[in-house]
Amino acid sequence: MIIIAIDGPAAAGKGTLAKRLAATLNLPYLDTGLLYRATAKLVLEAGGNPADHETATAAARALTEADAARADLRDMATSKAASQVASIPAVRAALLAYQRAYANANGAVLDGRDIGTVIFPHADVKLFVTASVEARAKRRQAEFIAKGEHIPLADVIADVAARDEADRRRTASPLIPAEDAILIDTTTLNADEAFLRAMEEVKKKQAIFSREKMAPKGTS
Ligand code: C5P
Repeated sequence: MIIIAIDGPAAAGKGTLAKRLAATLNLPYLDTGLLYRATAKLVLEAGGNPADHETATAAARALTEADAARADLRDMATSKAASQVASIPAVRAALLAYQRAYANANGAVLDGRDIGTVIFPHADVKLFVTASVEARAKRRQAEFIAKGEHIPLADVIADVAARDEADRRRTASPLIPAEDAILIDTTTLNADEAFLRAMEEVKKKQAIFSREKMAPKGTS
């Protein structure tokens, strides 16, 4: 059973990498951003304020798997509201047990902002995936275009930069690399290169596990 934590700012390529690692290693994959997005969506749809602690916490506590599986959680209004609800400690507390239970069942690849620092500080492999804000905004813009939404690059840059800033500055589980995280900068690495770099780390860990398994008891 292996737990892989992938953290980093918005649109850095965490999801692409996480899905590929999960498929290769036959592990479940949890996009933890969807939990915050779904919480935000519940608040917005009820006409509530995502910055209001009580409203957002009630939504996080009421969240179901079906809410997080919705296909309409990636628009800019929901992204912004997700970042707002995510700064509320009681919202984070309400979503913590689900994330831990998910991965503890069979191992998992999880991506988010605080997986290696708070959710699984003892994860087997910790990756911090980042890229320049321009590179990330261009990728996010391409995703919008693929869905038929033409949003000016300047607007996407502003959205991504504002969310990063809020995620870094908040006091509850801020976006920071874990001390033992491996940094992968995808500004100049393509998806294949990022995957190969991540697999190097996974293989190192797997080699340690198999050495430990082979060693007679008391010698490791
Ligand atoms: O990863 P994604 O962009 O979908 O996340 C949406 C928002 O949810 C982020 O901007 C961040 O504020 C919040 N988030 C978080 N912790 C996580 C995952 C996402 O605070 N583990």
